[in-house]
Amino acid sequence: MPDTLANLRCATAQLWINPQRLASAAAVNLGEQPLALRTADMHAAQDRLARFAPLLAQLFPELVASHGQIESALIPVPAMQQALGLPLASGRLWVKADHSLPVAGSIKARGGFHEVLEWAEQLALQHGGLMADGDYRTLTSDDARAWFARHQVAVGSTGNLGMAIGVMAAALGFRAVVHMSTDAKAWKKDRLRQHGVAVIEHTGDYEQAVAQGRQLAHADPTCHFVDDERSVSLFVGYSAAALHLQKQLQDQGMAVDAQHPLLVYLPCGVGGAPSGIAWGLHQVLGEHVHCFFAEPVQSPCFLVQMMAAPGSHPSVYDYGLTNQTQADGLAIPRASLLAAKAMRSILAGVFTVQDPRLFDHLALLHASEGMRIEPSAAAGFSGPLHLRNHALASAGANHVVWTTGGLLVPDAQFQGFLQQATG
Ligand SMILES: *Cc1c(COP(=O)(O)O)cnc(C)c1O
Repeated sequence: MPDTLANLRCATAQLWINPQRLASAAAVNLGEQPLALRTADMHAAQDRLARFAPLLAQLFPELVASHGQIESALIPVPAMQQALGLPLASGRLWVKADHSLPVAGSIKARGGFHEVLEWAEQLALQHGGLMADGDYRTLTSDDARAWFARHQVAVGSTGNLGMAIGVMAAALGFRAVVHMSTDAKAWKKDRLRQHGVAVIEHTGDYEQAVAQGRQLAHADPTCHFVDDERSVSLFVGYSAAALHLQKQLQDQGMAVDAQHPLLVYLPCGVGGAPSGIAWGLHQVLGEHVHCFFAEPVQSPCFLVQMMAAPGSHPSVYDYGLTNQTQADGLAIPRASLLAAKAMRSILAGVFTVQDPRLFDHLALLHASEGMRIEPSAAAGFSGPLHLRNHALASAGANHVVWTTGGLLVPDAQFQGFLQQATG
């Protein structure tokens, strides 16, 4: 523990193994107030996304081919495995390609879309424009849109959450407002404005943008604020990814058992997305899935929270860190307490990554597999390297790196990322 803290303070990349992890996923809620989440909530989220799929296929041309389903492929990446120098004796490397999720271009499509759709569904049922088992495409009617236009959806974001929430809310006819921190990328703000989303810029970091957005929204009863630090709807929206991954593993003939552990590496910001997915994976796959979160060395808010005394809620600034990183999706100073509680006895560990490594791995993935990801999404690739000498990394193991964003990155930006690789 003292070594972990020393490494943390001097921004040295490291792997931390969670000493509170319990072998059995059934024991998830021990020791703390029970988490008010049930497996049924994950299935309900999946069912909700399915109900909306025909409407989404109508609203977004890029979803016609998938009939409105928003999912990503599970892809073997042997060339990347070789480029990383990861021996086959330590398992096989895969990418879960959320960098290609349509419309939002990031993992935020999962939780973010779910929350906007849940609220739209609730409003429409109240208003009478929708029957519970009806055709959701009626929500494109003038009447439904006029009703939505009297309501607002707001969110605080470093970029990608705002993109998901803003684009979906605007497509349904809501007024959409995204509160952004100064570190948010200009192209993300521009793109949102092109979609008719109001972007409000706040001086200060992400946490301040969220706090100000939350305050403004609470003063307005027609406004729904998507609260990245506390939202259960986001969390269960993310968790539904587990059901799809379970099916993909079956389709690929990949077992998950003691001889075939599944190691999953998830980039972590506030913690909602990776925790929702890790929680879901434990519900459906059990104890032989091992989830590791990846954080920048300057923004290890989840690691800090997992090591903190019960009842405390420290920020990375408390450890003398800057929260400055090119991984803008991960530049969060303080973790979600909901996510931390959900992960207390489930999470396998957390590792930290220096920014130059992000660009190296981003460039390596592009050169070896032709995939285009953003810096935040590259954080997971350090994971298998940290674990390669661990007992879990046996020949039967599968390592899944969750690549969380990239589709919408403009070409000029991407070329800039490649140039930052040290080769
Ligand atoms: C938001 C985001 C994450 C992490 O999600 P959190 O819920 O903030 O932990 C990871 N990668 C990318 C690209 C993101 O946009």
